[in-house]
Amino acid sequence: MATPVPEVEACVVGGGLGALMAHTALRFRGLGCEDVAVVGAHDDPFATYRRHAWGVGQRVTYADPLGHFLPADWPGPAVLDVVARPGMASLRRLAGGGPAAGVADTVAQARAVARRLGYVRSFTRRVVADVVRATGPAGPHFGVYADDGALVLRARHVLLALGHGPPVFPPVLDAARGHPLMRDRVVHAYEPKRYVRGGRYLVIGAGLAAVNEWVNALAAGAECIAVRRPDVEGEDLGAPQCLFEALGIDAYSGLTHDQRLGILGRVLRGATASGDAWRTAVIRGHHDGRFREVVGEVTSVAPGPSGLVADCALAAGGDTGPLHVTGVTVATGFDADPRAVPLLARLVLRHAPPMTGGRLALPGNCGLVPVDQPASRLCVAGFHAALAVPHADTLAGLKYVARRFADDVVRARGGRGRGVGSRARMHAACVGSALGDLRRTPVTA
Ligand SMILES: Cc1cc2nc3c(=O)[nH]c(=O)nc-3n(C[C@H](O)[C@H](O)[C@H](O)COP(=O)(O)OP(=O)(O)OC[C@H]3O[C@@H](n4cnc5c(N)ncnc54)[C@H](O)[C@@H]3O)c2cc1C
Repeated sequence: MATPVPEVEACVVGGGLGALMAHTALRFRGLGCEDVAVVGAHDDPFATYRRHAWGVGQRVTYADPLGHFLPADWPGPAVLDVVARPGMASLRRLAGGGPAAGVADTVAQARAVARRLGYVRSFTRRVVADVVRATGPAGPHFGVYADDGALVLRARHVLLALGHGPPVFPPVLDAARGHPLMRDRVVHAYEPKRYVRGGRYLVIGAGLAAVNEWVNALAAGAECIAVRRPDVEGEDLGAPQCLFEALGIDAYSGLTHDQRLGILGRVLRGATASGDAWRTAVIRGHHDGRFREVVGEVTSVAPGPSGLVADCALAAGGDTGPLHVTGVTVATGFDADPRAVPLLARLVLRHAPPMTGGRLALPGNCGLVPVDQPASRLCVAGFHAALAVPHADTLAGLKYVARRFADDVVRARGGRGRGVGSRARMHAACVGSALGDLRRTPVTA
């Protein structure tokens, strides 16, 4: 006899940090583990983030005060740190301020919450190829299909938290990656890499990821030539989320998509790194003759005696001449066009949602128009929701979208959510587990 297809209230497609945030929000609002399904490619929600974070050598998670994994807003990571590890060191970290926590702490806190709220009980490991609108005796819902064509489950509401699109490479460097002698010397900032002492590297890009790579190269004892492109590209991780909290996000939601795109262009352009440690490293590198910056575009790259030989056209006119380098790091972000992601491409083709500047132009509630309905929501979280929620691709933004989605799910089933007392107990249990795990986690930041 065929196994019946599971039916759930809400399904989160993805299985990364956004999925974990959504699972927590749905459980906190009153859904049971059996009411929620997370269908993702990796059962560890940190799998993709960790790969990227290792790629850029990240040790600290930056977030605004709400950018953490506990179900309610308080306590944030710095307070948890003080309670878990009382003493001068944690008080100094708290007083030192800065909305940052060690990556190890962030992982520990998230794992504790996931364990407490039964994330693995809701999780199914599959790659989702399609999400199809359907109707039945119980009303509108979606069929969620795997990449082998199998119907994985039916869900009344679906949240797509698929992470970033593919990395973007300028065409010359994209072509170089197809050449066997250059493939391993042209890497994306988010790929694992190693800078060699005495080596010389080009770093392309102008956002936080690029600055991070300048510092990584200098710290390894290498020389860094930073290439800033004349039409400075936005760097998605650099959105100053403080602009978009509370009243800011409401005002932003009232703008047209063109106005939103204009604002994003301006704020992302202004989002450059200003950390003291980074500035000091770059100034020192400049004095040592190991750091210099050009504004221009790489026009050619070929195998050379040091590894590669590249040429850059300068924005001010002329070119750099042949630059003999060990490698090139490309920090130009991810493809923001949803059609570069197969599942989103299918949905765009089928439903033709509004797009602006090659991005999804979602409304403020992140619903995929026109298939989204209040009674059966289809929403997008994370990177592809950035036109609706500018900090969508941050922990705080993922939480904002997850909570709105969870509220809508509860509203659609008649508003019977978890009571205040039950929420308080659930939150306290998560805080207790997080503190226990933090006590066993070495301080790394
Ligand atoms: C290097 C780096 C550092 C960052 N640091 C910070 C920081 O300090 N603070 C902060 O607030 N934000 C940070 N971010 C931004 C953001 O918080 C992370 O990118 C976060 O991981 C986004 O969560 P997500 O769920 O959207 O994507 P991910 O965590 O990438 O998860 C998406 C998951 O979906 C899976 N998936 C995709 N398509 C399918 C499919 N069709 N079927 C099934 N599964 C699928 C993927 O395999 C992946 O596991 C950082 C991002 C990067 C890249």
